Amino acid sequence: MLIQKEKEIRKLLKFLDEKNDFYHDIIQKNQIDLDSNIESIFYKLPVITKQDIREHYSEYLSKITLPQFSEFTSGSTGKPVNCVKTSAERTTAGINVWKRRHQWDKEADINNYIYLYDKNTYRKVGNLLNFEKNNMIKCFKRLMDLNPRWLSGPISSFVRYAKLIEEGEVPYTYGSIKFLELAGEYATKEQRQLVEKVFGAKTINHYGIMESWCIAYECTCGKLHVQNNLFYAETRRPKQQFEDKDIGEITITSFYNKLMPLVRYNIQDYGKVTIEQCECGETSQVLTLLGGRTADIIVGTEDILGELFFKRGIYKLIDRYGDCVDGFRAEQIALREFLIRIQKGKGFREEMSEIMTKHIKSGLGNDVIVHYEYVDVIAPLPSGKMKIFYSHVQI
Ligand SMILES: [Zn+2]
Repeated sequence: MLIQKEKEIRKLLKFLDEKNDFYHDIIQKNQIDLDSNIESIFYKLPVITKQDIREHYSEYLSKITLPQFSEFTSGSTGKPVNCVKTSAERTTAGINVWKRRHQWDKEADINNYIYLYDKNTYRKVGNLLNFEKNNMIKCFKRLMDLNPRWLSGPISSFVRYAKLIEEGEVPYTYGSIKFLELAGEYATKEQRQLVEKVFGAKTINHYGIMESWCIAYECTCGKLHVQNNLFYAETRRPKQQFEDKDIGEITITSFYNKLMPLVRYNIQDYGKVTIEQCECGETSQVLTLLGGRTADIIVGTEDILGELFFKRGIYKLIDRYGDCVDGFRAEQIALREFLIRIQKGKGFREEMSEIMTKHIKSGLGNDVIVHYEYVDVIAPLPSGKMKIFYSHVQI
């Protein structure tokens, strides 16, 4: 597969050798001959992460004099990286994703498509991220006044609004929104089914990062196709072992990000990359995501994924007490200390915390301390993301 992208990769690297100090140094130091065999070139290049970009930021950006646009992204450690693109790069990425949307829906356009969290939406409808009930009701009504056909946003927000509709708190005409594009978070099958049922809309997975926007997009057969005119995907050996040996950390090379290059950029999401001849007619790399970021491992453990671990505890409670938790988040506040925020459900019982603590201690050791906080609503993290598990402990 790499060989099929030879031309794009070689062209990119020749550009970077000339215009980018970070890559010029790497190419020099490793004595990489950019005219030699593509595999020997490519695999000599280091795999980089967000942290590498942050640490080498001053030499990391290419010398391009075109107008630049900034967006910030923060990793799990919370420190932001300024992601820059030229206007041409933004146009390339934009056109590409709109092509994908049109494969689903010829009528989709910028007038009936709304991204929940962009500034324009904020100006028109208010802060959809503020999940206080009255605010949600107000914002959702304003949102529906704009007659959206497409909405794009994280699944957790759609789930919240779906629950509000189900409870009869906001009016909604079933089927008036046709498509819900899921971006920014991993969506489970159950979450997708719930929002599809309530909204009467089709959900579509959009896998992207702020650094490069949309990397892969779901086709009508349900496969997440890598946008192979712009990216090459590979996986890196994961920090933990999975039964399926093909699962690794998703690592991409972008052919179009030249100002802030992404070459063998490890996104730190778990998943696998396969090449498939899909029934939709496309042959491309296909991503299968596992959910959760590698950074979501409980600090101090080898390989325990926080989200799965704490979910299991909550499922035990639900098995026993039924509808007892409306929402929760586990936060690691110190190496051996956790805070569990719980939004109580109808069947909530005080003794639930003891069962949860037992689950946590049996997995992590008897010396861990667990606190509980009962909240009206689980607020997003300062980054705006909703996570089941978050570690404040720096590695
Ligand atoms: Zn397909």
